[in-house]
Amino acid sequence: MIQHSSSILIVGAGFSGALTAIHLLRSTVGQDISITLLDPASRPARGLAYRSDDDNLLLNVPAGNMSAFADAPSHFLEFCQHIDPSINPGSFVSRRLYGRYLEFNLQRAMATQPGRLHVVQDQADEMKTLPGRAGFKIRLASGQYLTAQHVVLAPGHQAPEFPLPLPPGECERVIAPWDFQRMDQLPDNAPVLILGTGHTAVDALFQLTRQALPRKVWMISRRGLLPHAHRLNPVPPPPGQYPSYVGNAPLRTRALLQHLRQEIARQAHAGSDWRDVLNQLRPHTARLWQAMPLTERQRFLRHGMAFWDIHRHRLAPISADRLQVLLETGDVQVLAGRLTAVHRTGHEELQVALMPRGRHPIQTLNVTAIINCTGPRMTIGPNSSPLLQQLLHDGLLLPDTCGLGVQINDQYQPLCSQGGTTLGLWYVGPMLKARHWEAIAVPELRVHTQQLAQQLVRQLTTRSTLPPQAEPV
Ligand SMILES: Cc1cc2nc3c(=O)[nH]c(=O)nc-3n(C[C@H](O)[C@H](O)[C@H](O)COP(=O)(O)OP(=O)(O)OC[C@H]3O[C@@H](n4cnc5c(N)ncnc54)[C@H](O)[C@@H]3O)c2cc1C
Repeated sequence: MIQHSSSILIVGAGFSGALTAIHLLRSTVGQDISITLLDPASRPARGLAYRSDDDNLLLNVPAGNMSAFADAPSHFLEFCQHIDPSINPGSFVSRRLYGRYLEFNLQRAMATQPGRLHVVQDQADEMKTLPGRAGFKIRLASGQYLTAQHVVLAPGHQAPEFPLPLPPGECERVIAPWDFQRMDQLPDNAPVLILGTGHTAVDALFQLTRQALPRKVWMISRRGLLPHAHRLNPVPPPPGQYPSYVGNAPLRTRALLQHLRQEIARQAHAGSDWRDVLNQLRPHTARLWQAMPLTERQRFLRHGMAFWDIHRHRLAPISADRLQVLLETGDVQVLAGRLTAVHRTGHEELQVALMPRGRHPIQTLNVTAIINCTGPRMTIGPNSSPLLQQLLHDGLLLPDTCGLGVQINDQYQPLCSQGGTTLGLWYVGPMLKARHWEAIAVPELRVHTQQLAQQLVRQLTTRSTLPPQAEPV
């Protein structure tokens, strides 16, 4: 049964979906364009990143650079200062507060144009194109159907893939990185292995050590590198030109990283910090990424990405200090290497085998659980959502050649396997990484959501390309 038809359906109501909805509402005031925002989550706009109510989990970007709107840079800061005037542009506030900010903005946008945006709590499981370019028919997990002329895919991050095949018995002791409830249910003092040493792994570590009970935690990644810390009170850099040291370098990973290191040394000599150099480069990484040949992009992913990530995705100073204290207790140990085997040894235990980096012998550990923080899966595979699998199978999505998601053109339209794009189908979210490299954080996504809304409205209001209103089927 068709529940209802809308002009635009947005699949996913995290930052990307909610901000796209807000921009669409703003740019179609007074027009007969209905928008539906679909998400199984009960609190729209928060998504995966900002749904926690734990004030100990901090943003990893300072408040002064977290505005949801590129044209109002201090929008979030002003929201914070209404609550606490001592918050300044360099403050690192909680992700809970940011979730509240996003919810507030969505509710305000809905209230100013009542009846135009509907929020549906459900999940899209299948999407088919209607005959005659009439839009799409979407099957929901509840069994209901929606139709829409345009669909914006904004399903966010996929759960990480476990690096080894696991027999079913062992699977239940592997915990997803954001399943804090299951981490809390682990017995006190139970030893745990965290796969990964990035931001998500640090979040999991903080959750496991909240009770301040002695607990052995191992964290492992191929290189055992932890994220660096932000400076105190960092200020976003003013917009600048494409850096000349990048423009003059050959488009090869090794040469580019060498030029970057030289620039850091040069600026350090002049009293600047390496973080300034990365901040200046950040707005230009899309241009650089698109200019690099495929083989060099692949080389960067293999050899440079781990180093890039720990410098670029930094921890709030308080989080970095908390991590340092935990490391100093000796209960938390960071290892460089990879997981080679997992066996169940008893009712409550797993034995894991680790191959340390370098020529060291295999190490075995007994743990109660493994937290899989290996990073969101970027390819679409058997463990992806039914919707993504079906869209890939039907050829409406085309995998990226570097394995960073799917191919999206500069108009935010996914490329099809048969060539071209599907009229009325759009994408915004972390898989833009394939095209732009830096595309997973608010400073980039706020621009993409606004630009996508502009593109979509342009197509909706251009009569020649306007698909007819979908009829209930
Ligand atoms: C833990 C964490 C902390 C972060 N911290 C920061 C930070 O401090 N600063 C920063 O700039 N960036 C941060 N980020 C980056 C973050 O990814 C982006 O800021 C942004 O939240 C991504 O939004 P999204 O809407 O694309 O994805 P998500 O937030 O993942 O939202 C996607 C939504 O789509 C829904 N969905 C998925 N599939 C379907 C379906 N089939 N049908 C219906 N709904 C569906 C999901 O339920 C989810 O609510 C963080 C990310 C994470 C994961």
